[in-house]
Amino acid sequence: MSQVTKERVIIVTGGNSGIGKAIARSFAEKDSVVVLGRNEERIRQTEEELGSKVTGLKVDVSKREEVAEAMNAIVSKYGQIDILINNAGFINGTETTMELTEAERSWDEMVNTVLKGSFLMSVAVAPHMVRPGGRIINISSIAAFTGGRGPGVAGYSASKAGLHGLTYGLARELSPEGITVNAIAPGFIADTGFTGHWPEKVIQSIVQQTPVHRPGHVDDIAAAVQYLSSPEASFVTGEILNVNGGWMFGR
Ligand code: NDP
Repeated sequence: MSQVTKERVIIVTGGNSGIGKAIARSFAEKDSVVVLGRNEERIRQTEEELGSKVTGLKVDVSKREEVAEAMNAIVSKYGQIDILINNAGFINGTETTMELTEAERSWDEMVNTVLKGSFLMSVAVAPHMVRPGGRIINISSIAAFTGGRGPGVAGYSASKAGLHGLTYGLARELSPEGITVNAIAPGFIADTGFTGHWPEKVIQSIVQQTPVHRPGHVDDIAAAVQYLSSPEASFVTGEILNVNGGWMFGR
């Protein structure tokens, strides 16, 4: 893969934990990285851990005013933005689909974080993105294809499937301007805020069903992000890249 020589500006939503933090780390040696999240303590920890090229901002991506305020701060500090990674998300799979309500941490919060948040961020960032060479990368999920494996993950699966539609629509609009838009759909990725507490029995059962026969690691997703961010991927747009060890097909 050819070397990117110029220092770029990267925004990673949910960059203060799990997959997002690994993505931020994968850029932090050469590029300027802004991580967004709501938990201030984890934002400060991430800044300390990843070094001086990483700055954190407390932002709820589902809130239009917070996104606008963050964008003003980022643009006045850095000018142009090269890459946006829409990674913020969570899973609520505690209820059955029939029990999903519009209450907090249920349908609305899910859709507002994953889908509306990615929309708000993309629309706020796109006018300030480098052309050609800009990249928007959405972190989706295998659940967008399978409906998820746990109880009540319909809201999650629907949000992630919606994210695919957003990816296709934005790719159609922005690719002619030199910005590619793609998504990555991870399978099971171990040791994140999301999966760190999953019982060993569940993890082993997933590994048994996975042809590559291991859990995914955060760096597997960071590597896919690096590919889509590279000059070699300039002809790839409107694509959903599955990174799941073959779990979708089973063993
Ligand atoms: P983590 O819980 O470790 O990370 C989730 C991140 O999202 C946190 O940084 C959290 O920060 C941030 N976040 C959540 N809601 C908001 C919000 N409203 N505004 C801003 N930030 C927000 O989990 P993962 O690293 O596992 O998840 C990252 C992404 O990967 C998610 O989109 C998830 O759906 C996807 N994914 C994960 C898989 C896995 O197996 N781990 C599989 C498939 C997809 P804070 O709490 O500070 O706001």
